[in-house]
Amino acid sequence: MGELNRTHDPARRSFVEAANESGCDFPIQNLPFGVFRRAGDAAGRCGVAIGDKILDLAAARDETLFSGPAEEAAAAASGPDLNRLMGLGRDAVSALRARLGDLLDAAGPEREKVERLLVPLSEAEMDLPARVGDFTDFLTSGYHSTRLSPTRALAANFMSMPIAYHSRASSVRVSGGTIVRPNVQSSDGNAVRFGPTAQLDYELELGAFIGRGNALGEPLALDEAAERLFGYCLLNDWSVRDVQRWESTPLGPFLAKSLSTSISPWVVTEEAMRPFRAPAFRRPEGEPAPLPHLSSPRDQESGGLDLRLEAYLQTSRMREAGTPPMRITDTNFMHMYWTLGQMVTHHMSNGCNLVPGDLIGSGTTSGPTDESRACLAEATERGTKAIALPGGETRIWLEDGDEVIFRGRAEREGFASLGFGECRGTIGPAVPWPTASR
Ligand code: MN
Repeated sequence: MGELNRTHDPARRSFVEAANESGCDFPIQNLPFGVFRRAGDAAGRCGVAIGDKILDLAAARDETLFSGPAEEAAAAASGPDLNRLMGLGRDAVSALRARLGDLLDAAGPEREKVERLLVPLSEAEMDLPARVGDFTDFLTSGYHSTRLSPTRALAANFMSMPIAYHSRASSVRVSGGTIVRPNVQSSDGNAVRFGPTAQLDYELELGAFIGRGNALGEPLALDEAAERLFGYCLLNDWSVRDVQRWESTPLGPFLAKSLSTSISPWVVTEEAMRPFRAPAFRRPEGEPAPLPHLSSPRDQESGGLDLRLEAYLQTSRMREAGTPPMRITDTNFMHMYWTLGQMVTHHMSNGCNLVPGDLIGSGTTSGPTDESRACLAEATERGTKAIALPGGETRIWLEDGDEVIFRGRAEREGFASLGFGECRGTIGPAVPWPTASR
């Protein structure tokens, strides 16, 4: 499960009242990091979410609230992104987390000072938490893979290694805003056309940020590689199914994925998630065990995460009628065939260097049940069976005005439950193809 300490104490309360309410995503045991702006801020500022507030880290540092390793970490978090903090490694981040817990504790002696540094979440606009230099998206749910495979069976390579492709970092964006329906090529087997896609989909994934990385040419053993994970967020790998089919042979996904990837703004640290570590996926009889470099007793015992993940959909008609978003996916990260530690180990195994702020996508997090299908391609059985929505509407693929909302929540008996906040995006109409200006 990893080392637990006083930051995980379920009895702990904060003087920020909203943090103590049941169901709150950001109790004092969570303390996720993010980057925010208040009206008029030219650059983002690193902060920590607590209840309905944000603690401004640079402002807290100006008040000399930190010392020792926590001060070193707070200094690294005084810029416009979390990359430097991520690069410091686990001990420094842990020291900062411990001090933040003490500062925000209901019994904390610094309460008056700290209260003045809090910014209401409702007054903040969120930025990307880090400069994402590279983004790699995996495919690690066997259920997702099987449902979308022509043979309906797991491929030999899927069972041997966590499959991935290099995706696009520049179009990773923070939750919110409009996902413009892209113009793409597709083929119906006879004619090739170019125009607005009719097959826009979401993929409910977990994102993971790399903290301290590895040097080029120097892969790390699994247990050490797993410790290079800084924390987690929700990730929507927006996908365009018609061009994906057309472009993916003989190479991998390209325009089907690079249009945009949305992530939730708050990074829940690996330390905050330690109480929710779970065994790695138990492979059914007859499936090969991972090769030795992708297996360790610790990873098998606690390399998984017990994290409930949900997707909701609200159409523009539902919004106008005041109908709340409808849940369309209810799954858990425990269904993933590979652990994040195995993904990072595999990523480094050829000597490739990972650097602070690199983003990993887990792959669509589908489980075995119908409600755990984590994209429309699965939920509509590859576009053949519409799903019914309140008010008589149906959907096969996403339509203009549809908003997709992801939520994540970790719960375990004996521990304070915590949430991930939200990852949102609304589909906007395609733009007309541009004409040359001269
Ligand atoms: Mn994906």
